Amino acid sequence: MSRQTQAIIHADAILSNFKLLAELAPTSRSMAVVKADAYGHGAVNVSRILQHVSPRFAVAIIEEAIALREAGITAPIVVLEGAHQAKECAMAASHGCILVMHNQAQLEWMLACPEDRRPTIWLKADSGMHRLGFVLNTLPSIVKQYASLITQDTVLVTHLACADDTSNDFTQKQLSAFLQIATQLALPVSIANSPATIEWPQSRGDWNRLGIAVYGGQPNTANVALAPTMTLRSSIIALRDVPKGESVGYGQNWVAQKDSRIATVGIGYADGYPRHCPNGTPVAVNGERVGLAGRVSMDMITIDVTHISNVNIGDRVELWGENVPINEVAEAAGSIDYELLTRVSARVPRIVKYR
Ligand SMILES: *Cc1c(COP(=O)(O)O)cnc(C)c1O
Repeated sequence: MSRQTQAIIHADAILSNFKLLAELAPTSRSMAVVKADAYGHGAVNVSRILQHVSPRFAVAIIEEAIALREAGITAPIVVLEGAHQAKECAMAASHGCILVMHNQAQLEWMLACPEDRRPTIWLKADSGMHRLGFVLNTLPSIVKQYASLITQDTVLVTHLACADDTSNDFTQKQLSAFLQIATQLALPVSIANSPATIEWPQSRGDWNRLGIAVYGGQPNTANVALAPTMTLRSSIIALRDVPKGESVGYGQNWVAQKDSRIATVGIGYADGYPRHCPNGTPVAVNGERVGLAGRVSMDMITIDVTHISNVNIGDRVELWGENVPINEVAEAAGSIDYELLTRVSARVPRIVKYR
């Protein structure tokens, strides 16, 4: 391996974040959400790191669950989008997966599946997000009609649209409407994602589904000491002096206001560094913060290192991590940490550090 562009995955941070969140909600059980390759960290990496503390894992689609099985992960895996085709019902059962049923077609596929090859199902309720799930007031009749599919392991699931915004009372509306039906049906519940687990204690149900917070992300208003779990780093591959008035990069997007020193770094949008990051977006060189200078290219970025001394080819550059909070980069790019993490591309090796 020659190029020094890597995503360092901090195993201790992932583990301590999960434990901290689980302790926040001692009356719930917590499962780690490892969909989208564990938010870019490597689903197998993260599932191995958490296998002794997360009694279930959650993924979006069954292919993600099967990949974990093939890597030797044994905990039951909740497939949040359920089956996309009838054959996935039997596949789910043989791989120890739980399918979240969100529409009637999926329930019919289950009925058509031989009884001894049916997986555990969870039921998804639409409490106001209007993306997936059964309309709340239809649930009693659905549960009655498909009673043969419901077991003691069946959980009633819903998802909150605004849990990261403590000033929005829509969350309370969703909770009240959902809990009324859940009480009536006497089923265990799973409501909270990360921001809900942190900010809305009433949403902590039988199972909390922890995604972004395991990876260090939390609502702006929250005050939980979560650690960054990924350091995206690269190195300086070229250095040059750029005289006042000269431009750098595509479209002459940055112009030197004075004689400047520009470093070229071996990472670009093909690695998942956001192309929309403007001039001045923070990066750290040898731990010191400097700014982007010029448009992000496919394989490289250029940064202004005029103000720091002793910069050399080969020096380490942090794109996000301990010195540059990922949220600052996300904000500069008009995006969110979820997107930045999941877009780190396959070209970037994930290196798990156990400290
Ligand atoms: C992705 C997802 C989660 C995890 O959300 P975070 O905000 O990352 O904690 C929980 N529930 C469902 C249904 C999801 O799709």
